[in-house]
Amino acid sequence: MRKTVIAGNWKMNNDLAQSEKLINELKNLLQNEKPNCDVIIYPPYTSLSEASKLIKGTVIKLGAQNMYFEESGAFTGEVSASMLKSVGCEYVILGHSERRTIFEESDEVINKKIKKALSARLKPIFCVGELLSERETGITNDVIKRQILGGLNGVTEEEMKNIIIAYEPVWAIGTGKTATPSQAQEVHEFIRDLIQIDYSLETANDVTIQYGGSVKPDNAKELLSQKDIDGALVGGACLKADSFLGIIKSV
Ligand code: PEP
Repeated sequence: MRKTVIAGNWKMNNDLAQSEKLINELKNLLQNEKPNCDVIIYPPYTSLSEASKLIKGTVIKLGAQNMYFEESGAFTGEVSASMLKSVGCEYVILGHSERRTIFEESDEVINKKIKKALSARLKPIFCVGELLSERETGITNDVIKRQILGGLNGVTEEEMKNIIIAYEPVWAIGTGKTATPSQAQEVHEFIRDLIQIDYSLETANDVTIQYGGSVKPDNAKELLSQKDIDGALVGGACLKADSFLGIIKSV
């Protein structure tokens, strides 16, 4: 049985005091809940250390939004996998569309990051997704295939146990436009088929594939009821504890 994972990507939001407030609110709301899923938060780097202390003893797990693939050295502004581990991270988002488009990260760079994260025992949330122009020209599957094969190049079947994939159509991120449940399901199924071809039926059945793109409490249930959608990567709606909880409760 694969795990359902609801994760909140805070992006470049919340200073230290705001992060403490949001985590405390989430902790209070979750106190009387027994979530039917794993819950992960991805605060900005500057809040990770404090977040790790605040979530101790709760169901909330911690991840970072990015990392660099080198171990250490002259890479001004970058953060390594072992640094993230040292502040309590278990997960790291890699290949997010904002990294691909704004920071021009290629499939090759994302692949190096995934392999480095795995070797450091950090679990990658590997994001893929097509642009609106790519969907409109009918090349969604080609784009997804290139991103999946490029990002996972050299990743072993054993290592696949520690990877979560997130399908995030770029046109649905932060736009309020959600993919319909059947549009999302279609791509999730395509990704699972690719994993089966590249690895095995068992690995394809076991890999968690989250959907991301304007997930809100009122659309989460329908998306999550699709057979190949195993959770959500949430942006805007995770910045308020009650709406993030609403999504968690819809599992
Ligand atoms: C995201 O950034 O991964 C995301 C899905 O954002 P939003 O939920 O705001 O569309």
